[in-house]
Amino acid sequence: MDAGFVGIDRLVRAGHVEPGQRDRVIFLWDEIRRLKREKNAFLPAHNYQLPEIQAVADYVGDSFELAVRARDINAGLVVFCGVRFMAEGCHTLAPQTPVYLPSLKALCSLAEVDADDVAERQEFLRSLGRNFATMTYVNTYADVKAMSDACCTSSNAPRIAAGLGAPDILFVPDQNLAYQVAIKTRRMYLPPPEANRFHAAEYRAQIEPLIRHGERQGLVGNVFAWEGACHVHHQMTVDDIARIRAQDPQAVVIVHGEVKPELQRAADEVLSTSQMARYVAAHPEKSRYAILTECGLVVRMELDHPEKQFYKPCRLCQYMKANDLESVYETLRDEPADRRITLPEGVRQGAARAMLRMIELAA
Ligand code: SF4
Repeated sequence: MDAGFVGIDRLVRAGHVEPGQRDRVIFLWDEIRRLKREKNAFLPAHNYQLPEIQAVADYVGDSFELAVRARDINAGLVVFCGVRFMAEGCHTLAPQTPVYLPSLKALCSLAEVDADDVAERQEFLRSLGRNFATMTYVNTYADVKAMSDACCTSSNAPRIAAGLGAPDILFVPDQNLAYQVAIKTRRMYLPPPEANRFHAAEYRAQIEPLIRHGERQGLVGNVFAWEGACHVHHQMTVDDIARIRAQDPQAVVIVHGEVKPELQRAADEVLSTSQMARYVAAHPEKSRYAILTECGLVVRMELDHPEKQFYKPCRLCQYMKANDLESVYETLRDEPADRRITLPEGVRQGAARAMLRMIELAA
């Protein structure tokens, strides 16, 4: 999406900027724009970023759109308004361009996966004689991406799984998106082992009856889910949806693929963040929505569509909100060495291979 979607008056009226901060925000926007011109800098922003950051960004999108955009970057430097794995992904695909992250606290609970644990799980599947491919959600760090056959995002995960050509998929790390992949590609969903308690014999006893059940049903294969979840989406409950349905049966309920399977089944649509934005824009006849994802996207939808009503069972991600306009400005101005994203070259190349495979299969 092109940025610059909203002016200061609407942000103040909607309560996103305190009236006393109005002049400061205008000053920062002007300075950021001046520095962008002088340094030929590029500012991508994720859909979950604060509205005053989205308003001054050069490009706003979901993880897949940001990855594709990174591949084509032609700039003097990048200040990536998102979380660390996204900035890493940008550096992975644009290694010639310095990439900075405004806040070192912009991390992600889902992305904290140990590469040694992934290697252990792959070895376990080989020991069972499974014909599998490893898919990593882009919400991982580069060392884990480098261990996979392809990355995916919530907008393209089923398509990537279908394109990889293996009956079984080891899906790392989001267990809920793994469910979505299984349903959409006619594979058996194999629930993850308990977090931090992988025990090969126990896990084998847990999954083998399910594998046989899937075989009797004639399914394509299996999706081995990892024991990860986004703490923001995983805390949403079916009661969140039930309350909306009881209050307003006509409201359209849209959930992100990172919510639990029972919510995915209860929703009208399961979409990525940019797909949600496009869905709302494409349906002028539908005026009331409940969007179950991080609140940043819902805030932008309210600003984009003042004529529509949005219920707010959304949740805030503290990592996405670690960046603010001040830190974006300082990073662009000072280019602090500790906020520059770098990777060992071998790891970067491995992650680039998996990300480019995703882009190729998603086309
Ligand atoms: S919303 Fe969830 S997946 Fe996204 S950055 Fe926050 S913790 Fe990570």
